[in-house]
Amino acid sequence: MQIEYLIIGQGISGTFLSYYLNKENKEFLVVDNNTNNSPSKIAAGIINPVTGRRLVTVWMVDEILPFAWKAYQEIGHDLDITAISQKSIIDFFPNPFMRESFLQKIETGDKYVHSYPEQNHFNSFFDYELGCGEIRPVYTAHLETLLPAWREQLLKENNLLEENFEIEQLKIEPGKIQYKNITAEKIIFCDGTSSFENSFFRQLPFAPNKGEALVARIPGLPDNHIYKKGMMIVPMAEKGFFWIGASYIWDFENAEPTLMFRENTEQLLKQWLKIPFEIFEHRSGLRPATLERRPFVGFHPLYTNIGILNGMGTKGCSLAPFFAKQLTDHLLYEEPISADASIDRFKKILTR
Ligand SMILES: Cc1cc2nc3c(=O)[nH]c(=O)nc-3n(C[C@H](O)[C@H](O)[C@H](O)COP(=O)(O)OP(=O)(O)OC[C@H]3O[C@@H](n4cnc5c(N)ncnc54)[C@H](O)[C@@H]3O)c2cc1C
Repeated sequence: MQIEYLIIGQGISGTFLSYYLNKENKEFLVVDNNTNNSPSKIAAGIINPVTGRRLVTVWMVDEILPFAWKAYQEIGHDLDITAISQKSIIDFFPNPFMRESFLQKIETGDKYVHSYPEQNHFNSFFDYELGCGEIRPVYTAHLETLLPAWREQLLKENNLLEENFEIEQLKIEPGKIQYKNITAEKIIFCDGTSSFENSFFRQLPFAPNKGEALVARIPGLPDNHIYKKGMMIVPMAEKGFFWIGASYIWDFENAEPTLMFRENTEQLLKQWLKIPFEIFEHRSGLRPATLERRPFVGFHPLYTNIGILNGMGTKGCSLAPFFAKQLTDHLLYEEPISADASIDRFKKILTR
């Protein structure tokens, strides 16, 4: 089989990269092993303009947020699914410090952080003595709908190989790569934490981060907001179901769910929610995060037919569409990749 591009991984990165290459009528094949705890399969899909306790505006927000909204709308339209929804976060202040921080941010005229005039509006659902504010616009990407829909499309067009990619079988030759019976011009790794072991890219400063979340049914809770008080309660595509999480753990033994997370989260929910809930699922996985919290995008300085789209960390839902498009435009039209994301910044390390 002769193709132009071999893509490893169909998480959110491989999905958008293959989507854009498909739009350009390129010949490609995606290899994906369908791991059930890949971060793209367990994420909430939140696309949030601010981050952290001090509500700092996220990196490249003015470019990346509108791009993400348009990209998910477009792929959703092509697949006849709802791939993204617009929400707002109702931020219930967990302590006086966070309340103060929020109010100070409003005073600066921040365009995403707002007061919430009807302070008693959520009284029948939640306990919150210190009041609440609102963050908007915020989006939720429906990866649970999008990933299988795009997978089906790939299968229909014979663009997907459902198997484990074995790097030992990869042969690099001048101007091409060979993998089993597949010859391609280039190979691009969108394989999340698997790239951490990849001999071409393992020198990159990856820093895996473990995240756990629960899925619960909460009958009667309105689904037009995301609710936050230390943790987030996020409406899912299936009515009545909510994603609750997540943890951010740098030091961990394995990617397995822990009893401690489940018990702590249930306890917090009991203190916060006034209505009944029922836990259905406990999810856990590793985010492909990086030490300097910026993605890895581009081609290896020595093996120029080997590329990477990875390192999306905690923000893959917003970063992946944007950088998949940049990588596509770089490949086809020699457009530059943002300096902060391009792996050219690690040229020295990668050529050692
Ligand atoms: C609990 C949790 C909550 C999160 N919530 C959010 C959120 O709300 N918003 C947000 O923006 N981000 C969130 N994230 C982060 C986000 O999920 C990631 O940034 C993103 O999913 C990374 O996508 P990816 O496609 O780069 O990698 P992955 O999702 O890891 O995809 C890699 C793909 O490659 C496949 N693969 C790997 N190795 C091989 C191999 N050898 N052969 C074949 N296939 C292979 C895997 O099966 C997988 O399909 C969350 C993460 C976690 C863990």
